Amino acid sequence: MTPFSLKRPTSLSEASSAFAGDAAWLAGGHTLIPAMKSRLRSVETLVDLSAIPDLDSISRDDDRLVVGAMARHAAVAASPLVKAAIPGLAGLASLIGDPQVRNRGTIGGSIANNDPAADYPAALLALDAIVATTHGTHAAEDFFQGMFTTALDEGELITSVSFRVPRASTYAKHRHPASRYALAGVYVARFEDGVRVAVTGATTAAARWPAAEAVLNAAFAPASVGMLSFESENLATDIHAGADFRAHLAGVMLREAVTSLL
Ligand SMILES: Cc1cc2nc3c(=O)[nH]c(=O)nc-3n(C[C@H](O)[C@H](O)[C@H](O)COP(=O)(O)OP(=O)(O)OC[C@H]3O[C@@H](n4cnc5c(N)ncnc54)[C@H](O)[C@@H]3O)c2cc1C
Repeated sequence: MTPFSLKRPTSLSEASSAFAGDAAWLAGGHTLIPAMKSRLRSVETLVDLSAIPDLDSISRDDDRLVVGAMARHAAVAASPLVKAAIPGLAGLASLIGDPQVRNRGTIGGSIANNDPAADYPAALLALDAIVATTHGTHAAEDFFQGMFTTALDEGELITSVSFRVPRASTYAKHRHPASRYALAGVYVARFEDGVRVAVTGATTAAARWPAAEAVLNAAFAPASVGMLSFESENLATDIHAGADFRAHLAGVMLREAVTSLL
């Protein structure tokens, strides 16, 4: 690790002033610190977000659930507000990594990092989320721009994510047995105005699944989904799973999610 200075602002305005030169926001450090230790990333200034009040708050705002950027996965999983409004989201958070990861990792760090196998991006896309930042807002579909790439500008800080509360939703995930990241994860959300489905892990970046949405909007039943598998130009292949397997697995996760919602 190369030397760096650490700043710990206590307000958003102090944080923005502290972010100067070659700087990075520090949330739980679960991705950033290993990257720095292995010298994949070097940073002159780390701006630690942990002392900014209320950045980890969770609240209900009419038909939306608002989760602060510094909310840890364990807090989202255990929150009575999340469990009441969007139990599928609490369930997703409870499946992330292991207890150590859930107690350090944050929703802001996860979506800023945009790992192709991360769980939250599927929830943001299916739950029509809006990402609030110090520069404005981004609809989830504009926010995730590709593998490890988002719409964030240099120095732009995520403050919260607001999710549209569905009638019902759930997440089904086939986990990698070591890392617990998704080999394929599917989030299904039922709203008054239709079904939204999003997939993570199977492709180089999380994406909506229009074919699944179409059949489920026609008839919400496992039989509608049949043997549907996920078609995309961006299916991922690596030592853990090939593209065909991931496409098939997404279909299996879709059927599992639909069945559990019924
Ligand atoms: C062993 C292991 C297993 C894991 N398993 C899973 C899994 O199963 N599923 C899953 O989804 N994830 C998994 N993760 C990822 C984990 O859940 C974290 O969310 C992820 O590592 C990001 O960590 P962090 O929140 O501590 O952010 P950090 O590491 O602190 O930051 C990550 C990046 O986001 C930036 N950033 C942080 N906060 C903000 C903000 N508010 N605004 C703008 N930019 C910001 C940082 O500058 C940095 O570039 C795993 C991680 C580990 C180490």
